[in-house]
This record gives sequence, C-alpha cells and structure tokens, in this order.
Amino acid sequence: MLIRFYGTRGSLPTPGPSTVRYGGNTSCVMVRSQSGTLVIIDAGTGAAVLGRELVAAGGKLRGHILIGHTHWDHIQGFPFFAPVFQAGGEWDIYAPRGFRQTLEDVLGGQMQCTYFPIQLSQLRANIRFHELIEGEFHVEDIKVTARYLNHTALTLGYRLECDGAAVVYSCDHEPHSRPFAEGSLSDLSDQDRTHAAFLGGADLLIHDAQYIASEYQSKINWGHSTVECAVAVARLAKVKRLALTHHDPTRSDVAIDAIVERLRAQMDAFPAPDIFAAAEGQEIELVGSVESAASAEAPATSDIGPALAESRALLVVATPGRTKMFTDILMSDGVAVSAAAITDAEAMTARIHPSVVVLEDRGDVDIASLAARLRRVGTNETPVILVTGREDERLMMAGGFVDRLLEPFKPSYAQARVRAAIMRRASRWQRAPLPEDEHRRLTELQRRRLLDTPPEERLDRITRMAAAAFAVPIALITLIDAERQWFKSSCGLDAREFEREESFCAHAIVDRDVLVVPDALLDDRFAENPLVLGPPGIRFYAGHPLILSGGTCIGTLCIIDRRPRDLDLQHLALLKDFANLAIEELEKGSPPVEVSNPHEPAMMTGNAPNNG
Ligand SMILES: [Zn+2]
Ligand SMILES: [Zn+2]
Repeated sequence: MLIRFYGTRGSLPTPGPSTVRYGGNTSCVMVRSQSGTLVIIDAGTGAAVLGRELVAAGGKLRGHILIGHTHWDHIQGFPFFAPVFQAGGEWDIYAPRGFRQTLEDVLGGQMQCTYFPIQLSQLRANIRFHELIEGEFHVEDIKVTARYLNHTALTLGYRLECDGAAVVYSCDHEPHSRPFAEGSLSDLSDQDRTHAAFLGGADLLIHDAQYIASEYQSKINWGHSTVECAVAVARLAKVKRLALTHHDPTRSDVAIDAIVERLRAQMDAFPAPDIFAAAEGQEIELVGSVESAASAEAPATSDIGPALAESRALLVVATPGRTKMFTDILMSDGVAVSAAAITDAEAMTARIHPSVVVLEDRGDVDIASLAARLRRVGTNETPVILVTGREDERLMMAGGFVDRLLEPFKPSYAQARVRAAIMRRASRWQRAPLPEDEHRRLTELQRRRLLDTPPEERLDRITRMAAAAFAVPIALITLIDAERQWFKSSCGLDAREFEREESFCAHAIVDRDVLVVPDALLDDRFAENPLVLGPPGIRFYAGHPLILSGGTCIGTLCIIDRRPRDLDLQHLALLKDFANLAIEELEKGSPPVEVSNPHEPAMMTGNAPNNG
C-alpha cells in the first residue's frame, strides 16, 4: 500500500512561512493498493491538491472517499476536488450515518449558492453516497473496518487492510480517561482499551495529535488527542509506525520538530513505534507482513449491509392461510422463513436461532410461558411477536413479547412489525422490556394526574440545578407513560416527550436502579438509537429512578450530555439527592385521586389543561 499525505493540519487551513514543511492544508490522506484501488481519507483542503494531480495524471477517474466526520476541516476540499467535475468519473463517498440528514444533504449544504457557485447536483461525475455504522466492508481489494471515535460529532476511524499490511486513520479522537490524555497507561478505561484493540498491530497508525499534554487541561472535551496519548496508545496497540497528524493551527514547523525530538528521546527506554509528524507531500510505502495484518485484533463488529437479508423468521402459527401470508411478506424482504408446530417451537428455536419468532395465541396452551422459554433459547434474547385476538396487557408482560399483532390485521401492518423487530435486533438499539409493575405504574400516573401538566417552577428549578451541578446541557424529570416518555420538567430540551422505544429512562425504570451510560455509541443497547444518532445527540446518560413512597417507579431524574463521560461515587450520591428532591415535590404536589377507570386517558379525568 502506498500512503501519501495531502493535508495534515487540524481545524483550520494554516498557510504561511512557519508551516511550509508540515503544511497548512487540512486533513486528507491518499491510500493506493498495489492493484491500483484508490482510497482518499477525508476531504479537507488537501483534497484540492490531490484532485488536481489526479486530473493531470489522466486516465479514468475512479475512487473511494472515506470521510471520518463532516466538520469543515474534513470536507472543505470536496467542492474543489477537480475529479468530481469530470464526466465519466466514478466516486463512492462514505461517512457515518446521521439520522435526520443524509450524507448527500450534508455535503450539498456547504455547496449551497450562498457558499459556493456550483451545486452538488451539478457535478458531472457519477457519485454514490454510502452511510456507515461500525463494521467491516470491502472497497475493491481493501478491507475497511469502521469504528466510532470519541469526538464532538459522530466520527468514524478507519482501518484499511490490503497487500498484507494495515493502516489505521484515527482522527479526530479524544482519549476517554484523563491520565491517558497525559500519556499514562495506568487506570485505562475499557473504552480506551477497545480503541487500542482497533489500532492493534497496524503497520502505520495515523493519529490525531493536536495538543501536547500541558495544553490539555484547557482543551478537555474539545474532542482531540495529545501527542503523549497518541504515543501511549500506539505502544499499547503495538503498532509499528506512528504518524502524528491534525497538527494544531498554532503549531509552527519548529515547534513540531521539537515535539518529535522530545518524544523520540523519551522513547529510547521503551520498545517503541517509529514516530514522526506527518507532513504534506510525504509518501510512505507499506510493505507489511501477512502475519501483521492477520494478527491484528480487529474489533468484533457487525457486518454493514442489509440487516434483513441475513435474517430468519420462525412462524408458529396455525390459522389457515396465515403461514403463507407471513411467508410471502417476509420473503419479499429477503427474510428466510421456517415454520414449526407449537409443540416443536422450542426445539426448532434452539436449532435455527431465528432473528424473530411469530407466535400465535390459540388459547389452548400457556402462551406466555412458552414465549418466555423461547426468548431464553440461545445467548441473545430472541424477540417473540404475539399474534392474538386478546387485548391483554398482563399476557404481553408475562410473555415478554416485543410486539403484538392484534387481530384482525393487514399484511402490510404485520410486515412493518416483523421488520421492526428484526431491524432492532440487527441494529445496536434495544427497546426496554416492560417493568413487572407496569400496570400499577400507569394507574399511579393517572391517579396522581401527573401527566400533561403545565411547567412548574418548583420542579423546573430542580432540573436547572441538576444541569448546573453536573455541568450538563440537559436535565429532565421524566415520566414513563404507556407509549411515550413525557417530560414533567425539562432543562435544555424543547421537546416535551420522546417515544418510549427510544427512551433511555424506560431502561432505568425496569431495574429500579440508577442507570449510567458513559458512552451511548459503545453500548449495544443504545448505539443506534435515533436519539443518539440524531438530535439531541445523547452520548452520556445517567438516570435515577423516581420511586414513590408506595413503591411504584414512575420515571426518572436524568442528566444527559452530548459527550461521553462518567460519574464517580460522589456524583452518584448527588444524583440521588436530586432524585429525592423530585420525588418529594411530585408527592407533595400530586396526591392520588381515585379514578373510576384507570385506563381512561388523563385528559378525561379532569386533569389540568394541556399546555401544548
Ligand atoms: Zn478535525
Ligand atoms: Zn472534528
């Protein structure tokens, strides 16, 4: 593999006499395999120079552009990348999948006429956009592994393996633990170890090294590494060569030289990677050994690809014609289908490990205990969808069904429900199970008329103080209703509710214990939750259950940050204090009132008017 740097500057293009050697262009690296596959990582301003060279070299312009994230310093060269203006060119562009905006919209955004004279739609090359999550895929003969980094925007690092060598591009990334940022390997967090595993054994590591340790204190949470951390992680991951990059715009050539000299001097005592600062125009030929690529500890990631296509559904249905109906709709989605009689359901589930089981309630077997047994077959919980004519919440809870098809239903509805169950399992996003006291909880919310009330200062000041005490942008007092999470008090959010299936708090109330998610992107229950991938961009969550004196858990007091972080014991105690304050206020302000039918909507029971 041939590697060539076209932009090594972080944040801002920085031309001038003090940056001529390491260069002033922002992030862009070219990788070419021996067979000629062209991959460009990031399209900062360096991409303009690379584009001109490619056009000058002539021939068919075909390549792949991997974008780590879409901050300016990683995409600003794209509108100046000459090959995309050439008819006949073929370009595949890859970047992390967002939620509300497509990659095409994001790249097109910086080319709107307010900012640029030519629009994305006017480019003459054939451009395909690919939105990525963590996982592995191939671009021609190069195997690419994508892994989320720790940055202020959703960012992927890329590991490229080809020709027996491995190169990893890890920009922009901030270490998870504070001592690690200063280069210490003591007290490493699991997340930092996972990051090191992703870099494991690389022949070349191109790593964010924007700051030096002495500057880090004032740059915490800016989303970047220090040179000391880059060296430490390179040693930990046993990489062979380390290219420091994303140089700070304030760093002169002389300052970079001094940093590298200092690092090399310190490294004498250790078995160390070869360290250098990446410079614009620098070229590196990687002749790896086959063993090095093979021994690299690639992370366990799921394949990127149509999740439905690798799925299998098990049908345990008996109504005439229904097996065919399910088979038709599932096969049209590419889902393989097996069927079993109710007596064989358990054995069949153990044998084929289906992605989902559709279980029909015929009234003659204890369907809830059967479902509970099916769920527990295998290592991963198998989602079971109930097909029934009974509207029985207790049955839903007892069986732990993920969903219900209430008869009569249309095939299109059945298809959507089964799809959702498979997608949720294939993706890294899980819906919380219903808590055991779900019925009692909902009744309590009604009796106390807690839902859909106007904002109240006595509660709002609690969330305001919690946000300030933890220095987080968002703090909430939230109530978990049947289908939604409703914010009794909210600091830092305009929305008044989220879907229950997206709710983090719905998980916290099941265990009736504090739930701390240090980094949602690294947690299989939340990594692909829409609230993580899209607004409000949850990365850190800590929720304390709100358990009333009668023992009912109605919701949580939670704090949310858009950056990963952790809570120490002192902070956990403080969170509990805030939760207790919230419980006191809720009980004081909302004594229970007997209602005739607890299932009636809150508005019907004479509740305070909805403030909209
Ligand atoms: Zn950057
Ligand atoms: Zn960035």
